[in-house]
Amino acid sequence: MPLSLNHTSKQVSPSLSLLLLPSCQKSPPKPISTCTTLLVLSSSLLLCTIQCSPWLTQAESKRALTMSTKVGDIVEEFHTDNKMSTVNNHHETSRKELEDASRLPALETAYTDILRHLGEDTDREGLLRTPLRAAKAIQFLTKGYHETIDDILNNAIFDEDHDEMVIVKDIDMFSLCEHHMVPFFGKVHIGYIPNKKVVGLSKLARIVEIFSRRLQVQERLTKQIAVGISEALQPKGVAVVIEAAHMCMVMRGVQKMNSRTVTSAMLGVYLEDPKTREEFLYLSRRT
Ligand SMILES: [Zn+2]
Repeated sequence: MPLSLNHTSKQVSPSLSLLLLPSCQKSPPKPISTCTTLLVLSSSLLLCTIQCSPWLTQAESKRALTMSTKVGDIVEEFHTDNKMSTVNNHHETSRKELEDASRLPALETAYTDILRHLGEDTDREGLLRTPLRAAKAIQFLTKGYHETIDDILNNAIFDEDHDEMVIVKDIDMFSLCEHHMVPFFGKVHIGYIPNKKVVGLSKLARIVEIFSRRLQVQERLTKQIAVGISEALQPKGVAVVIEAAHMCMVMRGVQKMNSRTVTSAMLGVYLEDPKTREEFLYLSRRT
């Protein structure tokens, strides 16, 4: 028995023990171990209370024991699901790593060629490992090609009776413009109005990552984030605004140091209802 219990006090009732489950299932993947621990503890507490309770009738004990067994089964299922998704994620990660590793030599050679065509001496000390570093860097900066929304939203969508606007603003975004392969970066503001389903807030930032870690144009990036959230959550509306500085404008060409490009994508009620759209734009601008 993992806990010492005061057998004379009613510490855990069967209903309390079972009530723990829905709230645990709503938690995002990381705290699952905490939830599972809670469930295991509550299951143990319950069992102990049943075995040691003089105030329960035989029928009550039997019913409570069944409930306790159910909690145990659910804990077991929880562990199995968790293990399965960890194993799947692990396989997926290894596959991506293998793919990246197999493409690394060709990329390294390509970067060596680029340096030579720039007139550099690729044998000088400072550049010896540059092609390899650059190859790894470009793989990281475009890692979004390997990722899908399904991968990251696994277990992170929860049923919730909430239909007010949710806004997450100032999400950092770094991307590469597909015309010049130089960075553009800035902030993303996301708003959505749930339709009985909400997503863990950090997952919105992960969705931004998936689409920004590719060769992009800002307009498409904005729309992909909005459509991605819309498809995953089926909300009443999604609004996305991106403000970004483009190094291809700042460092070359027109060299406008402080220029910012602002793009927006509005879906559902944000498109149909000007008031809702205004509310989002007002709240996302506020510091
Ligand atoms: Zn560009």
